[in-house]
Order: sequence, then structure tokens, then C-alpha cells
Amino acid sequence: MTKHIRFTLDLEAPPTIADGSGKVIYGTLEGDVINSATGQHKLANVRLLPPCSPTKIVCVGRNYADHAKEMGNAIPTEPLIFMKPPSSLNAHGGEIIYPSLTTSISYEGELGVIIGKRAWQVPKEDWEQYVLGYTLVNDVTARDLQKKDGQWTRGKGFDTFCPTGPWMVKKEEVDLPSLRVMSFVDGEKRQDAPVTDMIFDLPTVIHYITQFMTLEPGDLIATGTPPGVGIVEPGTLLRVEIPGIGSLENRLIKK
Ligand code: MG
Repeated sequence: MTKHIRFTLDLEAPPTIADGSGKVIYGTLEGDVINSATGQHKLANVRLLPPCSPTKIVCVGRNYADHAKEMGNAIPTEPLIFMKPPSSLNAHGGEIIYPSLTTSISYEGELGVIIGKRAWQVPKEDWEQYVLGYTLVNDVTARDLQKKDGQWTRGKGFDTFCPTGPWMVKKEEVDLPSLRVMSFVDGEKRQDAPVTDMIFDLPTVIHYITQFMTLEPGDLIATGTPPGVGIVEPGTLLRVEIPGIGSLENRLIKK
């Protein structure tokens, strides 16, 4: 399995820097050694960035029936789409900042899909040619603001609320139907479900989104979270894990 990463040698750089900044380097990771066009680097000497630089992060809400039920919601009859802003991106190991505007933060472990070429009105049977690869996403949510506002931009959109990574695995190396989405809170398992439990599968989701929106290379789709979400306190270590892809860790910090 080849781990495709984005990184920078600027250890103070924010995780949201775009590729045009001249600071972003692409490479592959083997053990703790990175191979890239700029040579070899030790993982400890670089700052990992999310593995893609999306123009938009498109998310599917309530895409697992048991998660819709645990939140007291009806099972949707068509995909429920919302967005997180690119300014919410966070990298593996980055701190999730607990905002003072909320008192109830939840994790949501999800499979992330990275788009490989411009996609508009994609027929279901053609979906896979628009996918470059897969990653992990934690769709961090301020549950109180999500409920209070009615729409989800604020509750889902804070800076640092979209940990993504640590790397991308290309679709050719992923056995999609075998994947399970798991999450752990301070090492304790809270979510574990097969991606085949999704109400709307990837062909349906990509077809649906591209009926109203063009997806660009590097755009990210967060495909929804299985049951087992919950409120967590500052200091908690959150881990999303998808065996066959990787493991994404971030600590929730109140500043
Ligand atoms: Mg979600």
C-alpha cells in the first residue's frame, strides 16, 4: 500500500495552505521516511498536511441508518448534502480547537473520497473514474450549534473541525467493499461499521452531487458517519481508523 502525502518543511504552517503557495510538497511515506521530488525527508522533520487541497468539502449527512436513528432523525430518502469550508481542514496530529461558542463537541469518523478529475453530471456507472483515492475524515461537530442554527455551517465549519489524512491511498489499492469505519475516544472503541452499511453508496452520492455542483480535482467528499457518535471533553484524543487505509489522530484542546 503506497501512502501518498502532502507536507511542508515550514513547521509553523497552517494545515490549510494551498498548493499555489510554493510550500507544499507531495511525496510517499515508507516507515518514517518520505520520498519526494525534493529528496528524502524524515517524517519527524516535516509538517504533514491534509492529503488533498479541496476547493470544497462536500459531506453526506445521516448516511448510516443506525446513526440517523441514534440522533432521533428519519432515514433520508435522498442524500442529505452539506459542506464544510476548506478553512476547517486539519492534518493528522493537529489540535482540534474547542471553541468558546459551544459546549457540546462530537467526533464523526468517516471515509473520505478524493476526486481525481473534474466531475459534472456523472452517470452512476462511471463514478469510479472520477475518484483518485481514499482517506479518513473526522467530521467534528458542535452539536448544540448544529441544532440551534437549523442549518449546519457554523456547527460543522469551525477552523480545525475537519481533520483529514494522514495520507491518501489510491483507489487501485483499496478493496472498497471490505472497509470498516471505526473511531476511538482515548483508545476506547466507539464506532465500527462496514462502509457497505451506507444508505447511499458512492455511485449514488457522486451522481447526486454532480447533478448540481462541479467537483474539481482534489475536492473531498465525507461520506457520512456510522452510529456511536458522542460528546467529548477537552483533552480527549480522537482517532478515526479504517483498516486498509490508515489511522487519523487528533486531540481536542481548549485554549
Ligand atoms: Mg458527518
